Amino acid sequence: MNTAQKPPIIWLNVAIFLGTFLLATVGVAWYGLVQGYSLVHWIWLVIAFVFCGLSITAGYHRLWSHKTYEAHDALKYLFAIGGAFALQNSALHWSSDHRVHHKHVDNNDKDPYSAKRGFWYSHIGWMLREYQAERYSDYRNCRDLQKDKVVMWQHKHYISLALLTNLGLPVLLGAIYGDILGFVLVVGALRLVLSHHTTFFINSLAHIWGSQPYTSKNTARDNGVLAFFTFGEGYHNFHHIFEHDYRNGIRWWQFDPTKWLIRSCAYVGLTKNLKRVSSYRIEKARLIQTMQAAKGRIFQLPNADKIQSVLESELQQLLSRLGEYDELKTQLIDSAKSSVKEKYENALLRVRIKQLDMVLKEQRKRWLVMINNPKLALS
Ligand SMILES: [Zn+2]
Ligand SMILES: [Zn+2]
Repeated sequence: MNTAQKPPIIWLNVAIFLGTFLLATVGVAWYGLVQGYSLVHWIWLVIAFVFCGLSITAGYHRLWSHKTYEAHDALKYLFAIGGAFALQNSALHWSSDHRVHHKHVDNNDKDPYSAKRGFWYSHIGWMLREYQAERYSDYRNCRDLQKDKVVMWQHKHYISLALLTNLGLPVLLGAIYGDILGFVLVVGALRLVLSHHTTFFINSLAHIWGSQPYTSKNTARDNGVLAFFTFGEGYHNFHHIFEHDYRNGIRWWQFDPTKWLIRSCAYVGLTKNLKRVSSYRIEKARLIQTMQAAKGRIFQLPNADKIQSVLESELQQLLSRLGEYDELKTQLIDSAKSSVKEKYENALLRVRIKQLDMVLKEQRKRWLVMINNPKLALS
């Protein structure tokens, strides 16, 4: 596409991104030299950054775009205010774009921030021109959200909320601590630029840099470094295959504070019905993806067809045993729920599960050794 064909520039967005960027760099540095900052400036920067970030990840993304859990109205209002503070459009608009992104991921004509159009476009370029003009106010993919009174309240008052939080809050803090300009620069501009670009990295870097343990059908990547700066959203490969799971980092050691927040809120009744994909489906996706990735290496070997068919058939056996294991686990959960607990049957079930678990571990280990040394498949 040459310049002449490009849609018109959205000058308001250009002014916001450029203006806040200059304030956050030149302005913050200049004020630091002539006036200096105190510890409270940085403490409030962190508080405001976390508030904006979690409102987007736990609110806009995992609650409203994907409905991975249900939240109390009090929490929803908090996310709605934090989302306006993050200045990323209303939750309704954001979710609508995001649902299209998932549905048509990497489709350059339909995905609003397709990573296949390059880093700049997926990071920020897509917001600088009228690329979405024809579907800007089309919220048909968010009919459920149009029935959510908090979402519609925020959508209606978005501009007032955005101004009150982005200007009002820093000015108020400045008045309290006696340094209005300092707080406008740090909690206003610097916080906003940091918040913007860390979120934007999910659309750009998280589709470029990292591993693909679950699927290579789209460009999404898992990246622990990105997860650290994005409240856990860096596990984007997992997220794109299991978008209805409230977690993005599923291992205990993976940094996912958004998941920790949603989970903690459940203990005090602020969230409920947290959706999780079964470990069976996750493991299945991982194994199939491992096979997929190995095909490239096997292809170059002599007897490639034979090796591949042995590995595929071993994989099928592994998957069917994994399915059996999952079924027994479900039975155990169901029987625990029943009013009359058949303790004896439960104990038998537990023994079978334990045995199957051991067999599975062994079988999985054997298959992984084979996948790493495909020639062993013929021995
Ligand atoms: Zn994505
Ligand atoms: Zn998503």
